[in-house]
Amino acid sequence: MEEIHRVAKLLYVSKYVIALTGAGISAESGIPTFRGKNGLWRKYRPEELATFQAFIRNPKLVWEWYAWRISMVLNAKPNPAHKALSKMEQMGILKAIITQNVDNLHERAGSKNIVKLHGDILKVRCIGCRYEKKLNEPPTEIPPRCPECGSLLRPGVVWFGEPIPPQALRETQIHMEKADTIIVIGTSGVVYPAAAIPYIIRERGGKVIEINISQTAITPITDYSLQGKAGEILPLIVKALEKLGY
Ligand code: NAD
Ligand code: ZN
Repeated sequence: MEEIHRVAKLLYVSKYVIALTGAGISAESGIPTFRGKNGLWRKYRPEELATFQAFIRNPKLVWEWYAWRISMVLNAKPNPAHKALSKMEQMGILKAIITQNVDNLHERAGSKNIVKLHGDILKVRCIGCRYEKKLNEPPTEIPPRCPECGSLLRPGVVWFGEPIPPQALRETQIHMEKADTIIVIGTSGVVYPAAAIPYIIRERGGKVIEINISQTAITPITDYSLQGKAGEILPLIVKALEKLGY
């Protein structure tokens, strides 16, 4: 409790707070993380499915996995952690969320300034032409094909070995340069370049706050490491900020 209060005070005096979120923030909405105990789909590991090579080798298998994940995202609801971040943005404290998540729970919680490093699972695009489309239900035909050219449609996510969308990278750079405090939530800190962000901020003299149910690769460089569920800790921080006069 004492620590929550100290974190709230730090946020209060910071000039530019950003958040870096990972799969853990959506776990309490029922969306499994990649590296937790429920992280396996059938017998496959995400690293074996989330590549362009895997997709070309077996589009049906990869699309079955994405159709399962898409229906999970569409059925999920933002949890108190997503809502607390949205509230912190409304308070004027949080300036941006940089997320590795491909779900839409931050926007559905009302957050406005979101940088999606790894794309959006609901946006599909053709691998043969410029056709793209936003899904509001899982594709019925698997694998789905482009209505304009007949090529395969692919999920609008960044696969292992693929570059981060340049616009997202530019926006991240801008926020990173301004940030004096970062809150790192529900990420294992092993997927780059996202994992480098807290290190860079730390190196520039910024503060690092972590919220996670376990220790991570980021924990050693944190100023505050709050161990627990994001959906429990973030609302407590919002309450503490309200007491400080927000
Ligand atoms: P990860 O699966 O590697 O790590 C999840 C982290 O969340 C772990 O450190 C775990 O301890 C923590 N965690 C679990 N439940 C938590 C909770 N209730 N509160 C706080 N922390 C909790 O996830 P990652 O670091 O985001 O990297 C994996 C990649 O997986 C990303 O590229 C992302 O695109 C993708 N992914 C996205 C989603 C999604 O969009 N919801 C889901 C799974 C994977
Ligand atoms: Zn096409």
